[in-house]
Amino acid sequence: MNALNFIGGVFVEAHDGETLTNINPATGEEIGRIARSNKADVEAAVQASRLAQNEWSALTLLERADWLDRLADGLEQRKEELAQRESKDTGKPLALARRVDAQRSIDNFRFFANFAREQEPEVFEMADATNVVHRKPIGTVGLITPWNLPLYLLSWKVAPALLMGNTIVAKPSEMTPLTANLLCEVASDIGLPSGVLNVVHGYGPEVGQAILEHPSIRAISFTGGTATGRHVAATAAPKFKKLSLELGGKNATIILDDANLDAAVEGAVRAGFTNGGQVCLCGSRILVHQSIADQFTTKLVESVNSMMCGAPEDASTHIGALISMEHLQKVESYIELGLEEGGTVLTGGTRAMTGQVGPTQDGAYLRPTIIDGLDPSARTSTEEIFGPVVTLHRFDSDEQAIQIANATEYGLAGSIWSTDTERAHALAQKIETGIVWVNTWLHRDLRTPFGGVKNSGVGREGGAWSLGFFSEPLNVCIKHD
Ligand code: NAD
Repeated sequence: MNALNFIGGVFVEAHDGETLTNINPATGEEIGRIARSNKADVEAAVQASRLAQNEWSALTLLERADWLDRLADGLEQRKEELAQRESKDTGKPLALARRVDAQRSIDNFRFFANFAREQEPEVFEMADATNVVHRKPIGTVGLITPWNLPLYLLSWKVAPALLMGNTIVAKPSEMTPLTANLLCEVASDIGLPSGVLNVVHGYGPEVGQAILEHPSIRAISFTGGTATGRHVAATAAPKFKKLSLELGGKNATIILDDANLDAAVEGAVRAGFTNGGQVCLCGSRILVHQSIADQFTTKLVESVNSMMCGAPEDASTHIGALISMEHLQKVESYIELGLEEGGTVLTGGTRAMTGQVGPTQDGAYLRPTIIDGLDPSARTSTEEIFGPVVTLHRFDSDEQAIQIANATEYGLAGSIWSTDTERAHALAQKIETGIVWVNTWLHRDLRTPFGGVKNSGVGREGGAWSLGFFSEPLNVCIKHD
């Protein structure tokens, strides 16, 4: 299946006909061609978005909310196909793609549609005047997204951007173009006005760069790695573009001495290895209190050993393929580094697969891996690996747990496991991060702020934060007679 650009409501090849190969990382096979676009394609997309702008922004918020519901309906009708495409593009288990990627992509549109219907007018009364805040569209916005949760993350931006009256030029990851195209097919089928949603495929330094530089794109919402985010900021900030940066993480899972051990093990495994550890929120550092560390570690290793690492379509698979062979090699290089830094691999570290569907030599598979014995300041313990690798650290006091948790350049998320929720709540406030879960992980209420501090990003998305980012407030102050 090929991925063409979607510009002005029409599927088109890159203007010079160039293409890229799309590989299924579970098999190593080519599954289609992707338009390899450049500046000229971005220019065409911007022109289309500008033509659509007046008509789209003239609709009321509630009319645009109805369009979001229609997009959700269209995706819902093709939910199985959505999950299949996501699994083929990423190598993730099909069951996970159904449960998480497909469902959340639909939910993002539904959530923002309903959220719009709950909005109250923003009015601030003074003794002698009334202030009315109007939320105006920014115009054309640029959305750039990664490969780990392709449509989940793209729709998280598309829905509020459309809702607030903007038109879009989006660039999905060149590794995972297929579900962005499914969204465009749905947009076309339901008759979304042409040019409101434009998708341009290709490499970051070619298409992404052109989006960052285009003078008519006034806001950039970027999700991806910290190094790319730094480049995005350096390019867009001097042009005074509005910027939202959702970047990498090296999150701590903190197991206190009074934790329910079974729940903590289950939570640490889920946090560490969901989507093969390729979630920015993954708990890739497990911090456990010394007094329960041995018992916890035995149970953790047992649980990880029982995980099936295998073909995405096999219903028993917990961990599918990683995104690519190159990424697998990068993850493996961190395991080697961990050994050089004095760590011990307790389990995993090999490419061996389990599961009922036979192994594929060309698939990017890695067994879930636990490394023990590393200094918390080692590179393996502090740099984002973004694969099924966790490091294990012991602590003696709550203060030491916080000190280790904060000893990275990242600050996106984390979880604390304890039967004393007041103690955990107090500790949570000492972690330099954007999100802390207590006795759970990746439990999301879409109204809440999502985003990180330090090198994990700038700004928040979610609920009112997304509506704020994708609009410009205009305050009108009316003096009373
Ligand atoms: P990446 O930074 O390599 O790529 C992200 C996107 O940026 C892709 O579409 C890519 O083509 C584009 N890009 C690359 N170079 C560019 C350039 N010069 N100009 C403009 N765009 C450019 O990230 P990735 O490998 O696709 O994704 C993994 C990373 O994303 C991890 O670091 C992960 O933590 C992070 N991530 C963060 C969140 C979050 O919400 N904080 C969510 C998911 C993933």
